[in-house]
Amino acid sequence: MSDTLTIALSKGRIFEQAMPLLAAAGIRALEDPETSRKLILDTNDPRVKLVIIRASDVPTYVQYGAADVGVAGKDVLLEHGGEGLYEPLDLRIARCRLMVAGKPDAVIGERRDRRRQRIATKYVRSAERHFATKGQQVEIIKLYGSMELAPLVGLADLIVDLVESGKTLKANGLVPLEHIRDISSRLVVNRAAWKMKHARVTALLEALRAAVATQQGETAESA
Ligand code: ATP
Ligand code: MG
Repeated sequence: MSDTLTIALSKGRIFEQAMPLLAAAGIRALEDPETSRKLILDTNDPRVKLVIIRASDVPTYVQYGAADVGVAGKDVLLEHGGEGLYEPLDLRIARCRLMVAGKPDAVIGERRDRRRQRIATKYVRSAERHFATKGQQVEIIKLYGSMELAPLVGLADLIVDLVESGKTLKANGLVPLEHIRDISSRLVVNRAAWKMKHARVTALLEALRAAVATQQGETAESA
């Protein structure tokens, strides 16, 4: 097995918020993925590489061992299913909430014509589970983005989407209606790498665990 430890993560908020934690664990990227077109980034440690991929592809790369570890949102992990992965640490970054939202007059579980409500979402599995748990029969419509549009043009009655500040909903005349669960990003580890690269994976895990605890203490203090 190769001597390299490969870490998969997406650019944007996950990269930005994971970097301070990785830095505390002694790993610094030599390039910025926002300006570099490279998909494999070197780090200060010649034995550690970062691969920059779509957020929703991170579990797949780690599952198949193309990356040893990764950073992925719980939303993405729930959709993926988590096969072949360990999820040993909540990094407490990229935090938001998975919510049901709709027009202000929308009522969950009700339509005047008694048809099943249509729910537009990227998070099909989570949405299905949520409504099934409540015993509500709904029709899920899979979208890949801009869920906020769906209720405005009559594609769906409601959406299931991630909400941080609620500004995007508000800008589109929508309101949050129901909280499904809190979301944050997790460290995921390939099961084979967990065994074969145990010492290095464990060292990274413990350094990140300490960094998360420190960061957590700092936010608690400033709150
Ligand atoms: P893509 O843009 O490639 O379709 P994405 O929208 O899932 O994928 P990002 O917007 O970078 O990618 O989000 C990455 C992760 O960050 C999400 O999987 C989720 O866990 C978290 N996230 C998404 N939106 C928010 C938000 N508004 N606030 C905080 N965290 C968020
Ligand atoms: Mg996005």
